[in-house]
Amino acid sequence: ADARPAALEIRDLTVKFGGLTALKSVSLDVPPSSIVAVIGPNGSGKSTLFNSITGLVKPSAGVVRFAGRDLLGLRPDQVLRAGVARTFQNIRLFPNLTVMENVLIGQHTHLSAGAAGAVLGLPRVRAEEREAREFVLELLAMFGNRLVPRIDQGVAQLSYANRRRVEIARALASRPRLLMLDEPTAGMNPAESIELAEQIAAFRDFGLTVLLVEHKLDVVTRLADNVIVLNHGEKLAEGRADEVRRNEAVIEAYIGR
Ligand code: ADP
Ligand code: MG
Repeated sequence: ADARPAALEIRDLTVKFGGLTALKSVSLDVPPSSIVAVIGPNGSGKSTLFNSITGLVKPSAGVVRFAGRDLLGLRPDQVLRAGVARTFQNIRLFPNLTVMENVLIGQHTHLSAGAAGAVLGLPRVRAEEREAREFVLELLAMFGNRLVPRIDQGVAQLSYANRRRVEIARALASRPRLLMLDEPTAGMNPAESIELAEQIAAFRDFGLTVLLVEHKLDVVTRLADNVIVLNHGEKLAEGRADEVRRNEAVIEAYIGR
């Protein structure tokens, strides 16, 4: 067992939407530099879990702690500054901006002089801008040749899979310590999904901690150090991918009896 404290600790998290309990006393740990996958049928609370961690939904009870710091009550921008970046189940990019511009926006929390200085053309800010663009190119290169040749294309012209990659690059641009991906391979074919899984595994090998929602069990099996199964807002099972795949309750929840 890992003696270090978990990077992300969730204790007894409960979320209610009116009369509906979307999460019921869910607890989980994401150890540092590990990949944890959350799986579960539609409506089981996976996105609600992500929204609770990132300040978009207010839980009615529970604890969310990252690197020893309480996240509950923080706004989404404060959660981002605390080192937690995410992508969305439905891609959220600026459709009229280029690949480079979309990813540069992800870095803004870390540009000291800010956009005003860039407009004024101050030499120090121009140097910072140049550094920022180089950093974006390094991030895009993590996806091989998929995005680098397309930096100046509008994201609306990209394939769906490439838009997903841009969104991940934008999240990485804030230099997070925890990366949260909500269905990153949705809309990707099997070969693209496996390629992305290998890239996400490389992020972990660089020291990043990853929490992801993923439906494709071959991707989960390849990637996840630990799997959490949600069903009707409750944690149904937890363990290594091969263990949860054999779990009777999990098989039933998925077949839907
Ligand atoms: P999943 O991501 O596992 O498919 P969600 O977390 O999106 O599930 O949804 C869990 C349950 O909570 C669903 O019944 C959904 O309709 C409900 N829900 C999610 N977000 C809201 C919201 N903002 N307001 C009301 N109900 C919501
Ligand atoms: Mg969802």
